[in-house]
Amino acid sequence: MKLFVAITRLYCIGLIVVSCALIAAEQQDKVLADARQAWHQNKDFVTGFNLSKTYYKAAQFDNANELIESLLSRDSLNAEQQAKLLRLQAQIMIKRNDYALQNVLLERVSKIIANLDDNSLKTSLYATLGKLKIKQFQLAQAQEYYLKAIDSAEQQKELNRVYEELGITYAQQGKFAEATEAMLKAVNIHETHNLPVPHSLYNNLGGLALYTKDWDQAIRFLTLAIENIKGDTQNKADSYSNLGNAYLQKKDEVQAIKYYRLSLDIAQKLGKEDLGTLNNLAYLLLGQGKHDSALASFKKIERYYRNHDDKKSLGIAKKNIGETYMRMGENVIAADYFESAYVIYTHNEYIPKLLELYPVMIDNYKTLANFERALHLASEFKVKSDNAINVESNAKIAELQSAFELEKKSKELAESQNEVASLAHKQAVQEKAVLELELAKQAQQRSIYLLASVVIILIVAGIFLVRINKLRANTNHALRQKNDEIERNHQELQDLNQKLVRQSTEDVLTGLKNRRFVDQLLPREQARMLREIKGSAFEASLVIMLDIDHFKHINDSYGHAAGDKVLQVFADVLRENARSTDMQVRWGGEEFLWYCPQTTFSDGEHLCQRVRAQLKELNIDVGEGIISPTCSFGFVSFPAFGNPETDWENSLKVADAALYRAKELGRDRFVGAQVSLNSVSSGSGEFDIEKLIKEKQISFVEWSVNI
Ligand code: GH3
Ligand code: MG
Ligand code: MG
Repeated sequence: MKLFVAITRLYCIGLIVVSCALIAAEQQDKVLADARQAWHQNKDFVTGFNLSKTYYKAAQFDNANELIESLLSRDSLNAEQQAKLLRLQAQIMIKRNDYALQNVLLERVSKIIANLDDNSLKTSLYATLGKLKIKQFQLAQAQEYYLKAIDSAEQQKELNRVYEELGITYAQQGKFAEATEAMLKAVNIHETHNLPVPHSLYNNLGGLALYTKDWDQAIRFLTLAIENIKGDTQNKADSYSNLGNAYLQKKDEVQAIKYYRLSLDIAQKLGKEDLGTLNNLAYLLLGQGKHDSALASFKKIERYYRNHDDKKSLGIAKKNIGETYMRMGENVIAADYFESAYVIYTHNEYIPKLLELYPVMIDNYKTLANFERALHLASEFKVKSDNAINVESNAKIAELQSAFELEKKSKELAESQNEVASLAHKQAVQEKAVLELELAKQAQQRSIYLLASVVIILIVAGIFLVRINKLRANTNHALRQKNDEIERNHQELQDLNQKLVRQSTEDVLTGLKNRRFVDQLLPREQARMLREIKGSAFEASLVIMLDIDHFKHINDSYGHAAGDKVLQVFADVLRENARSTDMQVRWGGEEFLWYCPQTTFSDGEHLCQRVRAQLKELNIDVGEGIISPTCSFGFVSFPAFGNPETDWENSLKVADAALYRAKELGRDRFVGAQVSLNSVSSGSGEFDIEKLIKEKQISFVEWSVNI
């Protein structure tokens, strides 16, 4: 709700109290006649001054001035007398509201003021000059005179009015704190000297409280003011209105309306219009939905301003009526009032008021669905508001405000810094000491932490190393074990391989070589022999074939196991008689091959006889009996026909033939075969052994069994 809060209405301007008491006109005439009479009889200063004052009181200002000037022209006047006359002259100017001669007056005052010994007079003279300046709204100069008045005063009592007026000067300059202080001093002086506190003083204090938005204080002072005003006066009406404003600000609308009404009642009694209060009341009523009452008030205001030709106020009134009709839903009538206000504002270029009018006016047209007019007004509103808002000036204001705030803050800061400087320094020193201590503590703690860290690291590293070593040892041990295992496995494998090799070339039962071994060894033996033949260092070998006699009988008589045992013992006998270079092979069943490198035919006789003799010594216990096996031998020199490469099979056949011969001769004996030189000439290398035996190309050497 928009309110024209009448807080600007301090009493100051209208309330400069005229100290002259009202004198009844009749009584006044008599006083004036007496004074004139006295002046005609005695033209001294006192009589003249008295007549001047009487003229002044009777509002005969020209007469008063004429007499004052006449008196001032006297050379005999002292400073006090001149001061009294000049003060009266100033009062006349104030009354007449005519300051044309004030410069002459002020010059006269300045001439005598230094010689003026009467301080009370000095005070009242300065106070009057202050009032003179207030009247012309020269506030700074007024303030200066009032302060001089206060300086000159000998008694506080003299200053009761001065302080109030100084307060008004401050208030009008916007110095509310100073104004309040000065006025409260005035109240204090009145109370101290048991003087009745002027209601104007309370009213002004109430007004100041409204300015400083201290609503409770405003209510307190305004109530005091009203209590002090006797009868229904304009002052009382104004005080009621201000009290209404204070309650309105406190959101107490009931009290606000009550005091606005009291104010308006007095105004009505006095036959005056208080349109400000009426406006405020109307707004309150509108806000409370009391549209008819509000409308009546706004229309009364409109009527007044129409009659008094105040265009701006008339525009405001029309706008207010329009808004009231809008609230009542009478948008067509509202539009008429708004248009009237619009014409007045536009014609008189009341731009700020126009800017306030546009939004409500546009809203109203929107409600009426008159969008064409609404749009037109809206575009106008935009142009005018853009023009109205001077960005540069706003920025300047903002800048100034910022600068002011900054200065204020800097001052406050500087002051507070000065105040707390020593304390802060002391505190800072203490804080620094604490900080240093803290730092030292922290440093110490850091060293401890560092030391602890190092220790922990060392421990961890130690543990780590121990673990690593342990791990390494374990690993090494495991590796060693693994290596050993591998080595073992390898050895086992080698053993196994050797065993396999051995097994593949050995006879399992007897441990002698088998035929596969002969196949592997024979090429090397043949090559050696060929090298020897070429080197002319050839020595022949001997091939002996052996077969156990009647072995089938042993098996049959004592079992197969007994036969196996005989085979094993026979093999042992063979081994005992072999040389390292000999090759002893189980050729099959109970048949054996004994190959003796670099052995002559005659050596064969000895070898066979030695084995035969040893066999004779044997008594093999086979559980069910004792066996003494016998063996038959047949041997021949190798190569039998002179060619190591082709004679192996031939030689074996010849040896076998010799063995067969030994069997034929009765067993347990050895037979050597010899090949004649003619046979050697065979080119193909293949020989018919049977034929050669028949042709006596192969002959047998037979030895007696008795050997
Ligand atoms: P001779 O005096 O004419 O050689 O008569 P012999 O019984 O020894 O000859 P023969 O060829 O008739 O019999 C050989 C026997 O040897 C036949 C066979 O069962 C036996 N024999 C062959 N190999 C083994 C063996 O490994 N163990 C055993 N216990 N007997 C075997
Ligand atoms: Mg046999
Ligand atoms: Mg046999």
